[in-house]
Amino acid sequence: MINYNEKPILIFYETTKACGLACRHCRASAMEFPLNDELSYGETINFVKSIKDFGKPYPVLILTGGDVMRKNGIKNIIKIANENNIPVSVSPAATTLLSKESLNFFKENNVLSISLSLDGNENNHDWLRGNGVYDKTINLIKEINNVKMKLQINTVVMKRNIMDLPDVLKLLIDNKINIWEVFFLIKTGRAIDAEDLTLYEHEDINHWLLFAMNYNIIIRTVESPILRRIIDQGNENYHSYLYDKLVDKTIGLLGKPENKRLYLKSAETRDGKGIIFVSHNGDVSPSGFLPVALDNVKNNNIVDIYRNNTILKKLRNPENFEGPCGSCNWNDKCGGSRSRAYSYYNNIFAKDPACINSV
Ligand code: SF4
Repeated sequence: MINYNEKPILIFYETTKACGLACRHCRASAMEFPLNDELSYGETINFVKSIKDFGKPYPVLILTGGDVMRKNGIKNIIKIANENNIPVSVSPAATTLLSKESLNFFKENNVLSISLSLDGNENNHDWLRGNGVYDKTINLIKEINNVKMKLQINTVVMKRNIMDLPDVLKLLIDNKINIWEVFFLIKTGRAIDAEDLTLYEHEDINHWLLFAMNYNIIIRTVESPILRRIIDQGNENYHSYLYDKLVDKTIGLLGKPENKRLYLKSAETRDGKGIIFVSHNGDVSPSGFLPVALDNVKNNNIVDIYRNNTILKKLRNPENFEGPCGSCNWNDKCGGSRSRAYSYYNNIFAKDPACINSV
């Protein structure tokens, strides 16, 4: 059992802001060229090697962007992490840079998994990410399956793609992908003006995710820790117009589930507790959706920052949450999205406005 006061299990590193896509909701507000303040190759290697100071087992380094394939020296960075036994996963953009040769390179260098984004059916996915990106993603899924690498699909939930969720679930099952990470939009980066889900949509969709787990698939949420409350509460007697509609569509596509519910025995992590984010310029934040720079890996060792930063220490103690999240029975297990609290109230300790327990 990992002590989250001592080390995270996941370190997200935004290698670069550069990306060939320009997705409408991009957290990183990615752009065509890298920013001048991006960590240099040498600074990146120093940071990567410093992860060993956490001690074994080392946290998993998740390389994101922008597009990780646009990071200068990315292959050497992965090679060096591998030589130092630091586990790496990659989250690249679906572009031609993600070639068969790159996939083979990942495999040879023990990359644990690749995650690709798929945000619904072709219309919605291409509306969000650009024409042709859906087809590219479907081809990449086949290619990654061909090289027998572990693949995870990430989906951002927004108002316009809610009813696509059962289709994405079917696509995962048809392609034998058993890890689905469902992101609940935070109004940050290019998503700042996006229309948020209502409180009830959050609740209904999370209940549906619990139902969807019966299809023998691991489902994790990002910025929606209320799923843990809902798992505890169960959904046997849950009904709502949206939930029932999602369930009916799912059964229509996949038949009734076998009720082989797979729970990921994880790790009750939340922003700053068990996970940490390092941005393209080395700034450290509790999460990639929470743009508050607490320190920088150019000035301080990541281990020292994670263990000793006052705000991170405060975030790991649920007694510091305000309003309903402070007094809730699930305040440690769930704790609410600190990123959403910040995006709504400019206060990382405030309640998560997406939870019905918080009204
Ligand atoms: S009130 Fe806060 S801690 Fe409790 S379940 Fe809701 S979001 Fe989680």
